[in-house]
Amino acid sequence: MKIDAVTIFPQYLEPLQLSLLGKAQSEGLVEITIHDLRSFATDNHHSVDDTPYGGGAGMVMKAQVWGEALDPLITPDTDLIILTPAGKKFDQPMAQSFARARHLVFACGRYEGIDDRVRMYYSQSEFMEQNIRVHEVSIGDYVLGGGEVAAMVIIEAVTRLIPGVLGNPESIVEESHMAEGFLEYPNFTKPSQWRGIPVPEILLSGNHGEIDKWRATQADLRAKKNV
Ligand code: SAM
Repeated sequence: MKIDAVTIFPQYLEPLQLSLLGKAQSEGLVEITIHDLRSFATDNHHSVDDTPYGGGAGMVMKAQVWGEALDPLITPDTDLIILTPAGKKFDQPMAQSFARARHLVFACGRYEGIDDRVRMYYSQSEFMEQNIRVHEVSIGDYVLGGGEVAAMVIIEAVTRLIPGVLGNPESIVEESHMAEGFLEYPNFTKPSQWRGIPVPEILLSGNHGEIDKWRATQADLRAKKNV
């Protein structure tokens, strides 16, 4: 999978080189490129924002600069993800759907967000005909200072679903959110006693039928507790 992310703070996205994702990139499973939006600004001050039409607080990111940055990245069969708290809420089914994509492009906003004509422009029929899809995505009902953290959340959730990225593919077969309302059972490891708290006896029994039943009950209890 190819991933491009456009931001005014490229360093914010440096952790994407670490851990599983770093390994996935060195193995050629994922190719991530970070682009500095400011390098596409053409005025002397390299400005990426301006005052909002209609007045109001804050600054809005300029459509021209975003257009210059995105045009070379938006090729046929691309999903453009515009990060905004006003977008569709990100969840595991969305992660699964993005994990089947060929190419994801993330637009990380700052200030009051990106001039809405950027979304309108790449949503036009000429782009749809080339399998270019625009998604406005939120990672939750709260407001962050910028889209970089949101992009990292989505990239991490999506890329771990790509075959070969996780060392043990079984890890994603039965985990929280694999189906609506499903949460995984609690996990324990050695030692069997820690600060006076024992591991549930059944897990030490070696009786896999009973362990499966216990885990199913615990998973149900967790799901009900969180409703
Ligand atoms: N004025 C915007 C509003 O009220 O909807 C909020 C802008 S926010 C301060 C700046 C940028 O942070 C947004 O353009 C977006 O890229 C990012 N952002 C903030 N909260 C987010 C969220 N919950 N999910 C995804 N991106 C978010």
